[in-house]
Amino acid sequence: MKLICIGRNYVEHIEELENEKPTDPVVFLKPDTSILLKKQPFFIPDFSDDVHHELEILIKINKVGKHIDKKFAHKYYDELGLGIDFTARDLQSRLKEKGLPWEKAKAFDGAAVIGKWLPKKEFDDVNNIDFKLLKNNDVVQEGNTSHMLWKIDELIEYVSKYFTLKIGDIIFTGTPAGVGRVFANDKLKGFINEKELFSIIIK
Ligand code: ZN
Repeated sequence: MKLICIGRNYVEHIEELENEKPTDPVVFLKPDTSILLKKQPFFIPDFSDDVHHELEILIKINKVGKHIDKKFAHKYYDELGLGIDFTARDLQSRLKEKGLPWEKAKAFDGAAVIGKWLPKKEFDDVNNIDFKLLKNNDVVQEGNTSHMLWKIDELIEYVSKYFTLKIGDIIFTGTPAGVGRVFANDKLKGFINEKELFSIIIK
């Protein structure tokens, strides 16, 4: 399985990193080895002094598809979740400056947190879902899927032009504003509405 990640999908986050507004979604992959194992702490890697949390809504693909039209995209997932795209921001900035790929900053072991899944049918409208991240009990990121530049079905259409989607593939749909550094002993908890979907300790 693969993790397909979208960058720059919320205007306020583009502004906080002083990135340009994209004309197409920014897409990158993480390997399955980047998935943080259940109940394990996240260890800050020794090659970074500035690892950031990026809280993101996740989509789990439930059937094989390629060139999926956005009007059929809703048939390709029936679960949504919440996760973190951990990013070594210092390393990413150096790679970006040189125009190099981001993988070392985004795809390292443990860099993908995947919380519990919720059935899509629990939601009246997937384009109006509130989600938030608490760090040591303070809200640090808050978002709503209505603020995505590319909505879920448009993302499925877009990424399936390039990659065949397979059962179990996961799409990370991009982070809202509020990304920030994590430190040893921080505790991060992710919520959709009032439901806690993950809780992790930083080491
Ligand atoms: Zn991200």
